[in-house]
Amino acid sequence: MSAAIIVLEGLEKRYGSIRALEGLTLELPPGPTGLLGPNGAGKSTLIKLLLGQLEPSGGRARIAGFDPTQRGQRLALRRRVGYMPESDCLIPRMNGVEIVTALGRLTGMNARDAITRAHEVLDYVGLEEARYRGLDEYSTGMKQRLKLAQALVHDPELLLLDEPTNGLDPKGRKHMLELVHDLGRAQGKSLLLCSHLLPDVERTCERVVMIDKGRIRSEGSIEELTRSEGNWVEVEVDGDLAAFQRRLGAEGFELEAIGPQRLRVLMLEPDGDRLFELAGSCGTILSELTIERSSLEDVFLEALSAGNARLQPGSSLSSPEDTEIGRSGRNGAGLEPGAPGEKP
Ligand code: ADP
Repeated sequence: MSAAIIVLEGLEKRYGSIRALEGLTLELPPGPTGLLGPNGAGKSTLIKLLLGQLEPSGGRARIAGFDPTQRGQRLALRRRVGYMPESDCLIPRMNGVEIVTALGRLTGMNARDAITRAHEVLDYVGLEEARYRGLDEYSTGMKQRLKLAQALVHDPELLLLDEPTNGLDPKGRKHMLELVHDLGRAQGKSLLLCSHLLPDVERTCERVVMIDKGRIRSEGSIEELTRSEGNWVEVEVDGDLAAFQRRLGAEGFELEAIGPQRLRVLMLEPDGDRLFELAGSCGTILSELTIERSSLEDVFLEALSAGNARLQPGSSLSSPEDTEIGRSGRNGAGLEPGAPGEKP
């Protein structure tokens, strides 16, 4: 394992009587990692401690080799780390290029490099002529992309992304996840993606740290944490069920009939498109398709129930929108950084 990019040793944070983090200990290798937990778990608090924006109540953290409590190390830390906050951090009355350039200068870049890089990262996130417009003309999706651009301007080796898909419509969310995926997987950046949405983490990260009520509940590579037997996909068939069963059987799928027109199909990677295609090839139509809890979701729910969390299936983890993401599978649409999720 390469040297850890983030190290926590008994890290604690209290706000008065609220214990937001209760002694986190962790060594995170480089690569894309999801920090997954329900709202109030302590994710933003951890990020702010890592950036030196908050002082710990106990324990220590190191990020990219720096101690964030040491003022003298903070500029060096900012040069190596990009931060996309959850709340708006953008400067009113400036346009997109000016904001990204100004934030690049704050990391120590000279004016010429900052403006050149600002244009490069704005191209990357797909903000085209909108970069010359004032912030008051930006939609939520455009602001999210601008926040990602400012986190990238100085080409950091580590990105801290706090709920980057917040407030995005499905198209904007898909585009943002494609960018995060590209940064972590294709460009080899280390990133810590804070999210309460399991599919966001599952699609973009190799590792996951699950936290709840200020404690780490589970941690490891997604591959290690998930079982290999796959996911059950439940379908309702409008047409000849027997023909569809025969077709699935011939393709080697394990099946279970659960009603007059309903079936469960075991798939290693849930792939709704494949099922629609197979149904079509034997003249039937799928009128409903539901992917049962993914195995990472099982791990997450088990991890949370160990901490008596109140989160239940049917919450944001299994919303229809999340199922839709799951339907295209992990090997879904090709990634095209630079393609905007919406027209500016
Ligand atoms: P998350 O990012 O996972 O939603 P947070 O780190 O924002 O969680 O919050 C963790 C806990 O700390 C919550 O109980 C929250 O109410 C509390 N908290 C966060 N910020 C403050 C603050 N400035 N003052 C008091 N309590 C806070």
